[in-house]
Amino acid sequence: MIRLDTPVQFLKGVGPRRAEAFARIGVDTVEDLLYHTPHRYLDATNVTPITHAVVGLDVTLVGRVVSKDVIPTRRGLRIFRAILRDDSGVIECAWPGQAFLDRVIEPGQLLLVTGPVKHYHGRQIVPREQVVLEEAGETDDAGGGGRGGDGGGERPRQGMVLPVYPATEGLSHRQIRRVIAENLDAILDCIEDVLPESVRDAAGVLPLKDALRAVHCPSVPALPGAEGGCEEGRRRLAFDELFDLHLVVARARHLAKNAERGATFENKRELTSALKEALPFTLTAGQKKAIREITADMTSSSRMHRLLMGDVGAGKTVVGLFAMLLAMENGYQAVLMAPTELLAEQHGRTLTDLLAPLGIVPDLLLGRLSAGEKSAVRARIASGESAIVVGTHAVIQETTEFRRLGLVVIDEQHRFGVEQRAALIEKGRAPDVLLLSATPIPRTLALTLYGDLDISALKDKPRGRLPVKTAVRTSRDRARVYQFLREQCAAGRQAYMVYPVIDESEQLDLKAAVKMAGELEKTLAPATVGLVHGRMKPEERDTVMRRFRDGEIQVLVATTVIEVGIDVPNATIMLIEHPERFGLAQLHQLRGRVGRGPEESHCILLADARTAWERLRRFARTTDGFKIAELDLQERGMGELAGARQSGGIALRWVDFGKDGDLIRIAQRAARELLERDPSLSHAQHTPIRHRIERRHVRGVELFRVG
Ligand code: ADP
Ligand code: MG
Repeated sequence: MIRLDTPVQFLKGVGPRRAEAFARIGVDTVEDLLYHTPHRYLDATNVTPITHAVVGLDVTLVGRVVSKDVIPTRRGLRIFRAILRDDSGVIECAWPGQAFLDRVIEPGQLLLVTGPVKHYHGRQIVPREQVVLEEAGETDDAGGGGRGGDGGGERPRQGMVLPVYPATEGLSHRQIRRVIAENLDAILDCIEDVLPESVRDAAGVLPLKDALRAVHCPSVPALPGAEGGCEEGRRRLAFDELFDLHLVVARARHLAKNAERGATFENKRELTSALKEALPFTLTAGQKKAIREITADMTSSSRMHRLLMGDVGAGKTVVGLFAMLLAMENGYQAVLMAPTELLAEQHGRTLTDLLAPLGIVPDLLLGRLSAGEKSAVRARIASGESAIVVGTHAVIQETTEFRRLGLVVIDEQHRFGVEQRAALIEKGRAPDVLLLSATPIPRTLALTLYGDLDISALKDKPRGRLPVKTAVRTSRDRARVYQFLREQCAAGRQAYMVYPVIDESEQLDLKAAVKMAGELEKTLAPATVGLVHGRMKPEERDTVMRRFRDGEIQVLVATTVIEVGIDVPNATIMLIEHPERFGLAQLHQLRGRVGRGPEESHCILLADARTAWERLRRFARTTDGFKIAELDLQERGMGELAGARQSGGIALRWVDFGKDGDLIRIAQRAARELLERDPSLSHAQHTPIRHRIERRHVRGVELFRVG
C-alpha cells in the first residue's frame, strides 16, 4: 500500500539509485512525484511518415538517429546535423547555431522533431523542438497506454500528447514519464480532494484526480479550454495555489487588523497642517487622496496595514511623512525604513529639508555610523527623545528599542513577502504599517500579492514635471548619440548608461561592459566615467554611486539595475544598451531614474536588431507605469513582478497571470467566504485544507493556530 508520504524509492521502477536522482529535483515522496508535473508537452497526435514530409509543410517526425555531425559555415555559425530514419525514409535535420546538441543527440536514439521542412541540397527539417523518445538500445513502453511492443517502437503511438518532465542528470524525462505512468493509478487512489464540492463547482474546476490525470496523461493536445486537456488540469492546480494563498493572505490580514494595538491617533492637524503650509509645492490630487485614506486608517479603531503604490517620482515620501507627523503629534514615534544605506541617506536628507521649517530634526540610523554614534541614536530612540527616525531595515531591525513606536513606513517593500510583513508587524506593540512601492502592478496581481493590505495608488505626477523623452535608436546612430552625450555633459548634465549583464557570473557580458566603460572614458573625454557592477562589494558600489550623486562622475555605466529610488535630479540621460533584453516594467523603472529635475530628460534605447522594434516603440509611447505593468504582464506572463512566483511563501507554479485573472478573483472570493464561516479552519471538513496549508506554507501552522 502506498501513501502520499511514502518515499519514492518504494515505487515500482524506482530503486535507491534512482531515488537519489529524484531527490536532486526535489522529489522525495509519492506526493512530490504526483506534483512533479510536465513543464511542456509535445503534440505527437499527428506524426508524419518521413517520406511524406514535403517542403513547405510544418511537420512532426519520429525516427532513429542514423548519424550526426557538426559543420561550420562561412559566417562562423556552427550547425548541428543529424540524419533521421523511419520505416518510410530518411531526412536530414539541421540546427543552426546549436552545436551543443552534439552532446545530447546520439546515433541509435529515437527522436521526435517538430518544425518546417525546407529545401537545402534536398529536403531538410529545421526543428523548433526535439525530444529524445528512447536512448539507443532502450525501448520506451510508457505513456501511450498499453505496451508499444518492441519493433513497433520505430513508429510512435498515434494520438499521443507527450508530457515532458523537468529532468536531471541520471534521470531522463523518459524515465520519469515511465515511473509516473506505471504508478499513477495507484497514487491517485490514495488522494483525497480537499476542496468541498460547492467550492469546486462555483469555481468550475475539475476534481483533483481528474486534474492530475489530465496533467500527466493528457488525451488531447494542449489547447486552452480543451476538455480533459492538460490546460484544464493546470487550471485546477492553479486554483488550489490561489485558494491557499488567499486563505493565508486573508487570515494574515484578519490577524494584523485585529492585533492588539498600542496606538490611538487623533487627527489634531497640528504638525500635519504646519507641514502642508511649509511645503515648497502643492500636493497632487492623488497625494491628497492617499493622505485622506491613511488618516482614516490611523484614526480608526483597527490598525493600518496599507500599501502606497506609485511610479518613481510620484511623491510617495511626502505622503509617508504626513503619516509620520500624525503619529508624532499624538505623542508616538515613527520610523521610515529603506532597503539600502544610500536610499536611507537620501530619505534622511529629504525629511531633514522638509521638516526644517517645522523645527523638527529626524534621527538617522545607518550602518556606516560608528558603534558609539549608533548607540547614542539608539539611546535617544529608547528614551523617546527622537520622534522621527530614518534608517535601513537591517539596522533598525537589529536591536532598536522604541519607547513608543506608533508607525512604521517601509520603502520599496517589494522585497518583502507576506510572511516577512506579518513577522514585522507582530514585533513590538503593533504599530500601524505603511508600505511604499515603486512597482505599480495591475489590480488582479495586487489582489494576489497584497491581498493582506489595503491599497492606495498615486496615479498622477507632480505638476511641472517634464515627461521623459524616449527614443529608440540603432547602433548606426551610436556616434550621434555619443555626440549628444558629450554636449549634455558639457552643459553640466549627467547620464546613466545601463548595460545588461543578465547573470553576473557570465564573464563575457561583464567583460564587454567593463571594456565599454573604458572606451567611453576616451570617447566622452573630458567627461568622467564611472562603473558599477554586481561583482563589486556593496561599499565600493556605494562609493561610486555617491561620487555620481555629488557630480564628481558624469557618466555612470551600470551593469546591475541601478537602485530603485535613487534620486540624482541632475542626471538627465538614461542610455540603455540592448534594451530588448529587459522587460518593459524594468525599462520603465530605469527610465524613472531621470526626469527628476527641472531640465528636460531623455531615455535612449540603443537597440542592435530590429527584432524588438515594435515593442520598444510601444514602450517609448507610453509613460503610465500602470499601463506598462499591464503590457509587461501580457508579454511575459509574470514579468519581473516582485518575486510573485513565491508569493506569500506559496509557490505559484501553475498560475498563469496572463490568463488567470478571473481565476484569481474566484479564488479570492471563495477563500473569503470560507473564512467567514470558519475563520481558523477548525471545522472537521476543513481540516484537510488547513493541513495542506500547514505543509505548503512556512507560516501556515502559526496563522491557523486555533485560539
Ligand atoms: P517617490 O514616489 O519616487 O518616492 P519622492 O517622494 O522621492 O518620489 O518625490 C520625488 C520628488 O518630487 C521629491 O523631490 C519631492 O520633494 C517632489 N515632490 C513630491 N510631491 C510633489 C508635488 N506635489 N509637487 C512637486 N514636487 C513634489
Ligand atoms: Mg521613493
